[in-house]
Amino acid sequence: MIVMKFGGSSVVRAEQIRNMGDIVRAALNRKPALVLSAMGDTTDYLLESAEAALKRGFVSIEKIEDLHLGVISELDLGAALQREIKTLFWELGSLLTGISLTRELTGRTRDCLVSFGERLSVRIAAAYLRSQGIKALAIDAWDAGFLSDSAFGQAELKPESPVRISASLLTIIAEGTLPVITGFIAKDGNGNITTLGRGGSDLSATVIAAACKAEEVQIWKDVDGILTADPRLVAHARPVERVTYDEAAELAYFGAQVLHPRAMQPCIKTGTPVLVKNSYNPAAPGTRIEALPGANEAKIRAVTSKKNITLVDIVSTRMLGQSGFLARVFADFARNGISIDMIATSEVSVSLTLDAGSDLGPIRRELSEYAGVEVKTEKAIVTIIGDVRRSSEILHDAFGICRDLGIQVQMVSQGASKVNISFIVNDAEADRVVVELHRFFFGEEGKPGPGGTGKMPKRGKR
Ligand code: ASP
Ligand code: MG
Repeated sequence: MIVMKFGGSSVVRAEQIRNMGDIVRAALNRKPALVLSAMGDTTDYLLESAEAALKRGFVSIEKIEDLHLGVISELDLGAALQREIKTLFWELGSLLTGISLTRELTGRTRDCLVSFGERLSVRIAAAYLRSQGIKALAIDAWDAGFLSDSAFGQAELKPESPVRISASLLTIIAEGTLPVITGFIAKDGNGNITTLGRGGSDLSATVIAAACKAEEVQIWKDVDGILTADPRLVAHARPVERVTYDEAAELAYFGAQVLHPRAMQPCIKTGTPVLVKNSYNPAAPGTRIEALPGANEAKIRAVTSKKNITLVDIVSTRMLGQSGFLARVFADFARNGISIDMIATSEVSVSLTLDAGSDLGPIRRELSEYAGVEVKTEKAIVTIIGDVRRSSEILHDAFGICRDLGIQVQMVSQGASKVNISFIVNDAEADRVVVELHRFFFGEEGKPGPGGTGKMPKRGKR
């Protein structure tokens, strides 16, 4: 058995759904379970509609209604499906009217509203597959055993989910049916619809794979796999053949739009390999994510950056030389619900990074009771995912590049997962650093980079 997940861009219109059908048909002998995202930008659109209903009291959902109904007629999926989809749109419209009348939008209502995206896409895709002679069945995640807590917008699955999931899906698959399951959503113990966080369909897929002891999870996207850098920034970015779970998780956390950050977790436990593939170019090998690195790996896997970061420098004043300084700092952040990304410490000071956007007023006051606090905004984290056993070499190269660019490195941290070297520069400088690092380690079209061989570069020859 395998799990095949198709992201929003892989089911965006009739043509992509046909294409998805071809890919699935070719894999039928491997007994797949399908997990789908909402079609195209539907999720964004639904979230915007919710805000519009709240603020302006009027919304039109014509655009996504046209998209879905248009696909149904183009694929000629029949009147029964059309009625089913129209009923869902009627419910969705009523929900939006409710929001606009009450001018109230709770997390619970928002999750219920965005769930329509996936509920629509699985019904359309399953109907299409049936029209092609494949015995497919659309299933809402809660009917496939997805039970979560009630943390709307960011729900966690309950420990009993995997057993429920495998019980329900393995029976269906054994009957020769292809389950087409909504990604991203679940229900809590009270029957409320929840969501697993943006991009959560990846997690749904890996949870199913781990629960059903699948041979493999395939994540079908619109790029040739995990790339060596963001292709919008680096034209020569190319797919990485294989990465470890740790490397993929670091990449997801530090800005690469590859996979949901938590998606790797279920597969790490079971050792299930994850294959990232391009539905627009199925012949490309994609990226394989698995437990162990391959032999003869290059020293760098990818370069990525995360912008709009705030750097906080905290210097102990009263607690100089006292134990418990760090404990107190972390406790203060935790109490304020602010999550920390990177940390660098010395005996009496700690620098840490946060996503911009949190209100730092209260934490600042608390820290000021025992420390000097300096907050610096508009920073970026540049992350090199690579072989940290060669970190001296990598740091030497990277800092040399920053020096040549006249860019000051403001903080450095080497992840404990042994795959991540990160440093902070100014936001406005990050793109240049990424481009130059990529050029150095991966080269340009038809030309290897000086750093790709693992030899020390000669100064000034870059
Ligand atoms: N449709 C949801 C989103 O856009 C979930 C997903 O695509 O994975 O975030
Ligand atoms: Mg999506």
